[in-house]
Order: sequence, then C-alpha cells, then structure tokens
Amino acid sequence: MKGTKAILLILLALVLAAVPACSPREPANKPPVKYEAEFMNLFDTLSRVIGYADSQEAFQEIVSDLKDDLEVYHQLYDIYKSYPGLTNLKDVNDRAGQGPIPVDRKIIDLLLYAKEAYELTDGKVNIALGSVLRIWHDYRGQGILDPASARLPDRALLEEADLHTRFEDLIIDEAAGTVELKDPLMSLDVGAVAKGYAVEQAALAVEGRGVGHLLISVGGNVRAIGARNDQGDPWHVGIENPDHTVADYLAILDIAGLSVVTSGVYERFYLVDGKAYHHIIDPDTLFPEDRYLSVSIVTPDSGMADVLSTALLNLDLEKGKALIEGLAGTEALWCLNDGELVQSSGFAGYLKKTD
Ligand code: ADP
Ligand code: MG
Repeated sequence: MKGTKAILLILLALVLAAVPACSPREPANKPPVKYEAEFMNLFDTLSRVIGYADSQEAFQEIVSDLKDDLEVYHQLYDIYKSYPGLTNLKDVNDRAGQGPIPVDRKIIDLLLYAKEAYELTDGKVNIALGSVLRIWHDYRGQGILDPASARLPDRALLEEADLHTRFEDLIIDEAAGTVELKDPLMSLDVGAVAKGYAVEQAALAVEGRGVGHLLISVGGNVRAIGARNDQGDPWHVGIENPDHTVADYLAILDIAGLSVVTSGVYERFYLVDGKAYHHIIDPDTLFPEDRYLSVSIVTPDSGMADVLSTALLNLDLEKGKALIEGLAGTEALWCLNDGELVQSSGFAGYLKKTD
C-alpha cells in the first residue's frame, strides 16, 4: 500500500441533472445538484465521491462520514505504519510467532474474508504471502529510486521466503477476538483485498444512513450505491485503457448498485533490462506473470471485485473464465497483452447504451 496511485477507473462526468428527490423542505421543482469531493491518502490513493444532494452541506456530511469510516479501516489494515492507541496489522506482523494478539473485530472480519478469498481462488490470492511480497516491494522501490541499479530478486531468496507463506499458520480465533501468526518469519500483506473490503463496508454504512445514490471511487475501486437518481438512471463508469494512445477507455459501463474494480500491470511496476515487472505476484511462480495488461471485474461486492481482479491476473484465461462463469452476478473483462479484449459471457449487458 505504498505510493500514490493514479485512478484505474475514471468516473465520467455526468451531464444530466437528476430529477428532484422528494424532500418536504425543498420546493418541488428544485432539482438536487451534482456534487463531487476528492480526498487523498486513504489507502495511499486518491478517493472521489460523486452524488446528488439538496445542498453542499448535505453532501459534505455524507462524504465526511464516509471518510471517517474509511480512515478507521485504513489505519487498522495498514501494514507499513503503527498508530498510537491502536493494534493494527503492522503490529500483528511485528509480533509474529509471539502468540495470540487481541485485535479489533474489523481485523478479524477482514482476515476471515481473506480466508474465503484464498479458498475461492485456490491460493492465487494469499494474504500470507507477505514475506515474498516484501522482497518484491523492496526491489521495486529500489529500482524506481535508482533505475540503473534495478535488479530482480534471486529465485533462491524468493523460495526461502516462500517457506513462510502458509495460510494455515494464520490462526483466527473469532470467539477470543485474537489473531496469531504461528510462523515467526511470516507476515500478512492485505494489499490485494483490504481496499475493496473497506470500500464495501463503508458503502454499506452509507446505505445504512439512508443514502440512496452515491458513486465512490477509492483509487479506482468503484462502488455505486444505488442508481444515479430516483428514476433508476445508471452511473457511467469508464474502464481505463492501459494504452492511452489508442483510446482513453476500454469500455464504458452503465451500473447501479454494483462495484467495478480493475487490476492492471501498468501502474506499479519497475524495469529491469527494459522489461517491466509489476506488483502482482503469482504464488506458484513467485514472479509477476505477463498474462494481461489489465483485468476488470463487475460484481455487487467491492471486496469480491478486488479479490477477483487480483486473482484473474494470476490465472490463465481458461481458468479465469471458469472461475467467473461459476459466480452468479459477476462479469469480467480481460485486456490481453496485444490489447485484444475478452469478455465473460454476460459482460456486454453492462456496456453503456448509446444515447
Ligand atoms: P491495486 O490495489 O494496486 O489495484 P491489487 O488489488 O491487485 O491492486 O493488489 C495488489 C497488491 O496486493 C500488491 O501490491 C501486493 O501488496 C498484494 N499482492 C500481490 N500479489 C498478491 C497475491 N498473489 N496474493 C495476495 N496479495 C498479493
Ligand atoms: Mg485486488
């Protein structure tokens, strides 16, 4: 979760004004106004919120509550920094091999979710891969800082680290509210799942506060609350084209109440001898694989979208398709290395209707 990331998915400007929502205090003919807010640094990325409200104050209140919620998740799930008065995942990592650690329920819930992700993806998304990912993280950081010295980690170093990536050594005791890393040399890296999971939980909280229409993007992890307006008009969400010289978007989607998440190889990478090595590591090869430029997921749960987009980068097309086709209400778009697009069977149903 290091570094500032550009947005993977660009929220398109919406030109149509929504028809007024019922509000007893407002004149019947005054339409809600479109508002936008941006904030930085939560999950080390840019967040954007778009919605219609009766006033700037009403919108600001929605955004402020959302931001507060996301901040709590960000701090708890941070693996790089500790916070006073809080036990977070960095503290859990620092105390690997030292027995059970009492943690916030939100940490237990994330780890249980990550366990489901591990099982669903046959180990291709493994938050216990920290020891391996840290090596890549350091080599990438060094390679970006000083491109002339960019190197690949030795296979032997990666394999040694991989001896400490067993998911089974993560002990989650729901009843006791504790987490334990059995292997003193293991560590958790929740970079592939935490942002999406947090966005989903925060979106559910927004809905719980009675907000019916809102579009949230945390570093391109997009989650729509409802449709754009009471008439059910969808939000338009663009999926960034990895090659902007061809076009800005791979596709523009019409979505309501759904999440859209992309994992791409073109945002966080470094070059060694002119070849790019990105930030998603196949647990079976311990290397970033060159299967696709990006993979995008459309599904209701933003946590699942995050998990699946990472998983698909680690799966060949056949296996990836089988995974997606077996999940109800879930679609995917693969951008192959030559720019060719492959859609799952129902993906076209989300493409924006031409006006
Ligand atoms: P992003 O958050 O950059 O959009 P992802 O959701 O795909 O992208 O997450 C990538 C991050 O997940 C990496 O930076 C790393 O921290 C972590 N990661 C990389 N490979 C794996 C893997 N196979 N299993 C679990 N986590 C991974
Ligand atoms: Mg992910």
